[in-house]
Amino acid sequence: MTGPVTEEETPVGLAPEVDIDSAWWWQALDAGQFMLPLCRECGRHFFPPISSCTHCGAQDIEHVSACGGGSVYSWIVVHIPQHPVFEGTPPYTILAVDLAEGPRIFGRLLRGGPVQPGAAVQVPQCGCCLTVYRSMRSLVSSSCLM
Ligand SMILES: [Zn+2]
Repeated sequence: MTGPVTEEETPVGLAPEVDIDSAWWWQALDAGQFMLPLCRECGRHFFPPISSCTHCGAQDIEHVSACGGGSVYSWIVVHIPQHPVFEGTPPYTILAVDLAEGPRIFGRLLRGGPVQPGAAVQVPQCGCCLTVYRSMRSLVSSSCLM
């Protein structure tokens, strides 16, 4: 289980590797918007942001706002950091989340827990975080929401 994480804590992490296909996604996240690529050909959302649809291969893509909500598919609790930048931060929880729009995405649980399969989680809409989730149970008292 993860220890309690306070609202004021900023997740420690490595800078993302931004490339030409994902730059728009990171820029939107920095601006407080959680977005997903949407295929105009098959009408499905996908992730990660790349230049063609992961479902049908079409390159007719648009970038649309997403709700950022989803449910926990699975998780791991990291006790031994695999990179020096994370020393002193374990234990922490990494979630695999099935977004409401369909794609599965990975992120760190910022607060809340314990985690259960199917638990509702939400990406904070404050633009202050990378890919992190909050347990829906902590949403009521959070000031970091839409
Ligand atoms: Zn498609």
